Order: sequence, then structure tokens, then C-alpha cells
Amino acid sequence: MNWSDTCAERLDVDVPLGPLTSYRVGGPARYLYSPQSADDLRAIARNARQAELPLKVLGRGANVLIRDDGFDGVVVRLDSDGFRSMRFEGRHVLVGAGCDLTKLCKAAAQRGLAGLECLVGIPGTVGGAIRMNAGGKFGCIGDTVDRFDVLTPDGRVESRSREQAQFGYRSCAIGDSIVLGAELVLIRQSRAEVWQRYREYWAYKKRTQPLADRSAGCVFKNPPGQSAGRLIDQAGLKGERCAGAVVSTQHANFISVDRDAAASDVLRLIDRIRARVSRQFGQDLELEIDVW
Ligand SMILES: Cc1cc2nc3c(=O)[nH]c(=O)nc-3n(C[C@H](O)[C@H](O)[C@H](O)COP(=O)(O)OP(=O)(O)OC[C@H]3O[C@@H](n4cnc5c(N)ncnc54)[C@H](O)[C@@H]3O)c2cc1C
Repeated sequence: MNWSDTCAERLDVDVPLGPLTSYRVGGPARYLYSPQSADDLRAIARNARQAELPLKVLGRGANVLIRDDGFDGVVVRLDSDGFRSMRFEGRHVLVGAGCDLTKLCKAAAQRGLAGLECLVGIPGTVGGAIRMNAGGKFGCIGDTVDRFDVLTPDGRVESRSREQAQFGYRSCAIGDSIVLGAELVLIRQSRAEVWQRYREYWAYKKRTQPLADRSAGCVFKNPPGQSAGRLIDQAGLKGERCAGAVVSTQHANFISVDRDAAASDVLRLIDRIRARVSRQFGQDLELEIDVW
């Protein structure tokens, strides 16, 4: 590929992606790149397009399963300083897409700013969280988004409002655009109140989810009006195992993996769960995790 000189210097080849994800399984990326700025990102995206190589953006990899044969394309990570900024201005916070979600939630709580404590215990970056509209029973990130910037597939930087994003259940209408950064608007409350909720939500998460395991959180989306975890549990699948991958006994919608697991173990277990739930309940489960 004819990379520009500046791109070539920071372009890594054949990089194992497993260690960059929370499952820690899966093969390499043909190319891995950490752009320093939006212009740099735009340049690498243009190069990839010209070379007809697919390009994907990886946050913390907390919602991604990489197949064992890896990804034959360009993976970008927004982990340089230029993408990790966080600036509070009154009730507003301006954040880069690579900013760590946990750090952001804590920083907001410390300032007595409410709205993000519902995201406690959700690993990831701001960009990944907006793409997935990360959240749960206490709220989701979309509720706090005022506007955000994206790089579109044809190379334009555009600002989008919350309305344009059409945040839904684990969804956001950005297509193949890449989130660059966002402005969130929070609610001023007493620090004690925000911290109290933060601690309550954190305790709930620890009680209900296997947070110490290697996983990517919930594997399947909840079908309308139902709980995927409950269906999997009722199908008798808690503890079900495919080699190094096992259905968590704490939360049936989590698949935990052993140290020597392969992505194919997770994929086989996913197929088995889907087949059993479909046979027993006539319900087709849709993936929440992104399989590359
Ligand atoms: C223990 C555990 C608990 C979890 N609990 C929850 C939970 O309660 N609620 C919940 O919603 N999720 C949960 N998750 C899943 C995960 O934390 C979230 O989906 C999180 O938002 C993923 O962020 P990330 O940066 O790691 O994204 P990644 O996993 O790296 O990427 C996820 C998707 O977003 C895309 N993406 C990443 N960055 C960008 C960007 N800048 N622009 C455009 N697209 C981008 C990727 O291409 C991919 O399609 C959990 C995961 C774990 C491991």
C-alpha cells in the first residue's frame, strides 16, 4: 500500500488484537494505527479506502470479539493524547472519543455533576460508548449527549445533535462514521448525592455481573419485553461450556473465557445458545457484541 510518510512511521503490521480487547482472544490486524489528530485519521482512512482495505475503529475492545484469523484491514485506535482530552465547563464536559469512560464518570461525580454515574462499571471509551449507546437499567450515555463530532466515510468532519443520533437500545444512528469527540451536558447536584448513587450502582453491578472474568459484557440484546439472560438461564444453559468459553453462572447473558480460549470457542457457544433458545422459546437472539 502507498501510505503517506507520516502514516507509515506509526503504522504497525500484523498486530495481535486479542490483548487489546476484554475477551483477550482472536487473531491479528493486518495494520494497526493510532492517529494523532482528526486530520491524521482522515488521511489514514483515505489511504485505506484507496487501497480497498476495510477500516475499523477499536476502543477498549470491551464489546468486540475478534475472530481467530484476525482482521484483514486497518484498525485505528484513538488512544493518542489528541483524542483523550476531558474539559469541564460548568455543567458541560468536552471529551475526546478516546477518553476512558470510567475516568470520566469518576471526574463528573467528584464535581457533583450527575448523569454519568449510571455508566459506572462499564469499561470502554467515550467513542465506543456513544456508538453502542452504552448503559443499562439506570440510564445510558445518549441521555447526556448534547452534540458530537464525527468523521464521515467520505472524509468530512460533521457535528451531530442528540436528535440526529437517534439513540436507542444499544444503538446510535451514525452508520460507518467515526466519533471524534462529544459535548455532554450534566446536572448539578450535591457531590454526596451523586457519589451515593455511584456507589449504589457499582455495588449492583458487582453483585449481578462477573466483572472479574474475561468477557465483553452482555453477548445478546434483550428481545423486546424480555431478558436474554433469563431466557438463557431458563433454557438450562448457565455453566454450559465449549472448550475455553462458558456461560457465566452469575449472569447468563455473559460468556466468560479461560486463558487458553479461542474465539471459535465463544462462537460455537453463541451458536449453541441461539439454537437452544430458539428451539425452546421460539426467540431468535440478536448479538449485542460486535464480531470482527
Ligand atoms: C465486564 C463488562 C461489563 C459491561 N457492562 C455493560 C453495560 O452494563 N452496559 C453496556 O452498554 N455495555 C456494557 N459492556 C460492553 C462495553 O463496555 C460497552 O459496549 C462499551 O461502550 C464499549 O466501549 P469500547 O470503547 O470498548 O468499544 P469497542 O468494544 O472497542 O467497540 C464497540 C463498537 O463501537 C465501535 N467504536 C469504538 N469506538 C468508536 C468510535 N470512536 N467511533 C465509532 N465507532 C466506534 C467499534 O468499531 C465497535 O463496533 C460491558 C463490558 C464488559 C467487559
